[in-house]
Amino acid sequence: MSKDWNKRTAAVHGGTRRSQYGELSEAIFLTQGFAYDSAEAAEARFIETGEDEYIYARYGNPTVRMFEERIAAIEGAEDAFATASGMAAVSGTLLSMLKAGDHVVSSKALFGSCLYVLENVLGKFGVEVTFVDGADNAAWDAAIRSDTKAVFFESVANPTLEIVDIRTVCELAHKVGALVVVDNVFASPVFSDAIAQGADVVVYSATKHIDGQGRVLGGIVLGTEEFIRGTFEPFNKHIGASLSPFNAWVMLKGLETLSLRVNAQCDTATALANRLDGHTKVARVLFPGLESHAQHELAKTQMKRPGTVVSIDLAGGQAAAFSFINALRIIKISNNLGDAKSIITHPATTTHQRLTEEQRQALGITRGLVRISAGIEDTDDLLADVAQALDAV
Ligand SMILES: *Cc1c(COP(=O)(O)O)cnc(C)c1O
Repeated sequence: MSKDWNKRTAAVHGGTRRSQYGELSEAIFLTQGFAYDSAEAAEARFIETGEDEYIYARYGNPTVRMFEERIAAIEGAEDAFATASGMAAVSGTLLSMLKAGDHVVSSKALFGSCLYVLENVLGKFGVEVTFVDGADNAAWDAAIRSDTKAVFFESVANPTLEIVDIRTVCELAHKVGALVVVDNVFASPVFSDAIAQGADVVVYSATKHIDGQGRVLGGIVLGTEEFIRGTFEPFNKHIGASLSPFNAWVMLKGLETLSLRVNAQCDTATALANRLDGHTKVARVLFPGLESHAQHELAKTQMKRPGTVVSIDLAGGQAAAFSFINALRIIKISNNLGDAKSIITHPATTTHQRLTEEQRQALGITRGLVRISAGIEDTDDLLADVAQALDAV
C-alpha cells in the first residue's frame, strides 16, 4: 500500500491481504479462532501479537483488519478499530478515554443515541457534560475549561445541517489538552479531512454511506496509533463490541464504490436543493451548498463537497410535510441515510420524537421539516418525484 495514494485508489486497494490462492476480491475469513503450529507458537503470540497475527476475532480478524486499514488509508489516520455499530464506536470512544470526575463539552444537536450516551450514560459514571450550540465558536470557548478532557460533536448536525468549525474548536480544545472526537457521518470519509483539520478521533456509523446499501450495522474509530492501540483496543476487545468478519467484508466492498456513490448522491442533493430553493410551498431549504446556508463559506473550507442530505421546511407545517411524504413514489419513508435508495424522514415525529417541543425548537426541528437523503437513482426522476409530491401538497 502506498502512502501517496489518493482516496479513490486507497478505497479500492487499501489494506488488501491475499491468501495463498491469490484471490482478486477480498476473502471473508469467517473464523473466530486461529490455530497455532505448536504450543510454543501459541505462547509467543500471546506474549506479542505481530502485525498480521490473530488470536481471537473479538481482538482482530484478517477481514476486519482489511476494512480497518482501508478506511484508515482513505481518512489519512494512523490506525483504526472496527466496531459492531456506529453507536459502539461513539460510546466506546468516550467510555475508553473518560473516567469519573472528567469534564466533556459537546454540541447539543446530536443523533438521538449519541445524545443518550452523553446525557444519560456518561452522567451515570460521574462524567460532567456541558452542551453548547455547535455553530457558535464563542460558546465553545466559554464552555471548554482547563480541566476539560474531551470535546464531542457531529461535524454536520442532523437534521438541520449546521456545521461545526472543526479547526477553531480543535484549537480551543488542544489549548487545554482535551481530545476532540468528531462524529463525521454526514460529511463521509470522501468529503471530509477532519483529522488533517485537527480532530484527534473520527468516528463513523459505517451503517450509513460506507455500507450504503442498507444491509448491515457497523462502526469505525479512527485516530493515532497511540489512541487506537493504547486506549480504544484494550477497552473494546474486552467489552466485546467487535465487528463481525462478514459485516466487515460487506463494508470493505462498500468502500470500493463509496466515492462514486457519495459523489452521485451529492450531485442529486445539490440539484434538489437548487430546485426547491424559493419554491412557494417551501419555507426554507437547508443545504451547506446553498449560498443562503448560514455557514456556506465555512462548509467550503472544511468539506470537499456539501454532502448527500438536504432538509426542507414545508410552509404548511406537519400536515404539508405528511402529505408531501405520502405523495412520493420513488423516495422511501425510512430513517436511514446515506443509502443507495433515496430516503425521506420527518424528524419531529420519528428520530427526534423523544425530545421535548422546546428542545426541538431550540434545534430548529420544526413540524414542517423533512430530511431527504439523496440516493443514486436518476437525478431527473427524483426531481420529478419531488415536484409531483409538492403539487399534491
Ligand atoms: C446513525 C448514526 C449513528 C449511530 O450509528 P449506528 O450504526 O446506527 O449505531 C451515530 N451518529 C450519527 C451522526 C448517525 O447518523
